Amino acid sequence: MADDYYQTLGVERSASAEDVKKAYRKLARKYHPDVNPGNKAAEEKFKQVSAAFEVLSDTRKRQLYDEFGPDAEKIGFDEKKAEAYRAYKASAGSAGAGGIPYGAEGFDLGDLFGDLFGGRGGGAAGGPPGGFDIGEMFGRRARNAGPERGEDLTVRVQLTLAEAVSGTERPLAFNRPGRCSTCSGRGTSGPVSTCNVCNGTGRSRRSGSLFGGAGACPNCHGTGKAAPPCPQCGGSGVKEELARLTVKIPAGVHTGSKVRLSGQGAAGIRGGPPGDLYIETDVAEHPLVRREGDDLHLDLPVTVSEALLGADVRVPTFQGEVTVKVLPHSQSGRRMRLKGRGVPSLKGGAHGDLYLHLQVKVPEETTAEARAAAEALARAYQGDVRRELTL
Ligand SMILES: [Zn+2]
Ligand SMILES: [Zn+2]
Repeated sequence: MADDYYQTLGVERSASAEDVKKAYRKLARKYHPDVNPGNKAAEEKFKQVSAAFEVLSDTRKRQLYDEFGPDAEKIGFDEKKAEAYRAYKASAGSAGAGGIPYGAEGFDLGDLFGDLFGGRGGGAAGGPPGGFDIGEMFGRRARNAGPERGEDLTVRVQLTLAEAVSGTERPLAFNRPGRCSTCSGRGTSGPVSTCNVCNGTGRSRRSGSLFGGAGACPNCHGTGKAAPPCPQCGGSGVKEELARLTVKIPAGVHTGSKVRLSGQGAAGIRGGPPGDLYIETDVAEHPLVRREGDDLHLDLPVTVSEALLGADVRVPTFQGEVTVKVLPHSQSGRRMRLKGRGVPSLKGGAHGDLYLHLQVKVPEETTAEARAAAEALARAYQGDVRRELTL
């Protein structure tokens, strides 16, 4: 019965308000119960036409219908909340309060390691992976305007490679739907009593229809009883807040790794449990060090004489400086492995390694001395250095 309202009235989605009205009048005259006494099919058709017109004739409702579809008309649809969420989503992705962008984008359960932080092992079951979910907002509310779990949120954190290798702590400041302090998240203020919108009937007269008509009272959801909504949060129990917390990033994260902070997501609606917060790491490229999984690669410049005669050279690593023995007769491109000097494994296995790639550097300037030495060196080669270079 999820008939498209535009189809019901036989108009295009782009139809003007005038066209909608015209189409409705024509159909209403045709199917009106007064003209079709005892005709059940006509009565049903008349109801459908009226319902379609009620929405499409109201600019606001039509806009919501275009955006959210038939759900926009469901009992329990909370236009204010939809608006609030829309505004919230629109601001997400731009800079948050601490200049840290956030959003509630999807996450990959396979990539989680929230247990490191004592989070629940069950993952984010119940939270819509795409963030705000229409079905959750309308469907669940329609059945039961009770507590709902808050949304999971994602905050992206930029790290240097050094921070990713060593792990770090990062203070965060970001906006999130927090628990309304006025009503402690319940969404109501004062005791439950007769709904003052419908005077306890549970039905509401709707405006906008030429023929009147009644639906369930949006305030009490048809029960006839309601506690006054909290004036601070409008009944959701949720209020935007600036969250400040320090997150511990474990050593070994990659771009796209996720840390879960259980219960640090959006506050639950009407007193429901909060969602989780996911910290998604974004590791910047290092200008000198290349990362391949947990291994690191670094070019190591050496002089001609170091390469020829051998030398002990100092090499910086993320775990501190080390001395490396360059063997005599080391050719450019020679690879040396420093075991365990790479990135710690997130999964708790062995550290990655650091690979040094020797690069023999010739002097920038050619002094007379250097020229004499180079000529002497040239005589030291045994035969043609390119003798094996055949394709
Ligand atoms: Zn409140
Ligand atoms: Zn009511």
